[in-house]
Amino acid sequence: MAFTVRSCTQQLLVRSSTLRTQSKRSLSSSSSSNPIGKNNTNTKTINKRNPRAIGRLQVKAEATGPVCVVTGASRGIGAAIAQALGKEGCRVVVNYAASAGPAEEVCKAIKASGGDAIAVKANVGKAEEVEALFQAAVDAFGEVNVLVNNAGITRDTLMMRMKLAQWQEVIDLNLTGVFMCTQQACKIMGKKKPVKGRIINITSVVGVTGNAGQVNYSAAKAGVIGLTKTVAREYAGRNIQCNAIAPGFIASDMTAELGPELEAKILTTIPAGKYGQPEDVAGMVRFLALDPAAGYITGQVIHVDGGMVM
Ligand code: NDP
Repeated sequence: MAFTVRSCTQQLLVRSSTLRTQSKRSLSSSSSSNPIGKNNTNTKTINKRNPRAIGRLQVKAEATGPVCVVTGASRGIGAAIAQALGKEGCRVVVNYAASAGPAEEVCKAIKASGGDAIAVKANVGKAEEVEALFQAAVDAFGEVNVLVNNAGITRDTLMMRMKLAQWQEVIDLNLTGVFMCTQQACKIMGKKKPVKGRIINITSVVGVTGNAGQVNYSAAKAGVIGLTKTVAREYAGRNIQCNAIAPGFIASDMTAELGPELEAKILTTIPAGKYGQPEDVAGMVRFLALDPAAGYITGQVIHVDGGMVM
């Protein structure tokens, strides 16, 4: 089957102290950090007869923050992004290609931190699976407010040795996948009035600088930058912002493949002298996706790279 959906809603029995803490959290985040979609209301009183008996209340924890689709969220940077948004009370669609177990773990962590989540298997390089992914988001949460195009792969080799299949696979996922997801998201975002949406594309430092051995990857990531600026121009007047984040070298399975020798060389090119962490990228996504202060930013490429590009 092309995709599966694993749900979702939490049932919690909480004591009165937990209830008070959650109420405070939902109030503070509704006043400050979620300009998109509904505010958080993490608690619902079930015992209507005696509302003072909160020590015995059964409480359904249901996040109602912005609905965020994060592609490739089972591992690495995508998992950190999904969890950062979940902590803010978002309802997160955790997309993955093969890692069902890790995707479920990400969903569990999101629910434990006050958000809601479903894991959806879909290859975002395939049109019919992209459609199914967004249909699953709408079926589960009714809308899409934020899209983070994060899924990406590498198939590295020098240009003259690269097979057409290696080129195509990377372009299909890293560039065409971003186009297809963005099209689906804008369609859904445009239906809900007033229209509001934020799209964040994860490009790369090598989309700006190029990199030997990555002609497919750097071309795709450069393409994502062009796509970001065009979508920003087409949708700025309709209240959908589109920005890109260009990470440098971030510790993940993708960079672990490089090996210690190459890593030592790479470190000499990073002014900060170290790899970044997935949370460094996730923090910038959280800002661009949720913060009111990001409301006038669109068409930008934000570098999170320890000073590699300046
Ligand atoms: P990882 O390899 O650690 O994780 C890749 C994620 O993408 C996984 O969740 C994987 O799912 C998912 N994925 C792979 N193929 C598909 C597919 N066809 N459809 C849907 N999801 C898919 O990568 P990183 O976390 O390192 O990278 C995340 C993004 O950041 C990528 O776009 C990458 O290009 C970019 N980036 C990374 C940098 C780095 O240094 N790490 C630097 C600059 C940019 P599954 O687990 O199911 O396979």
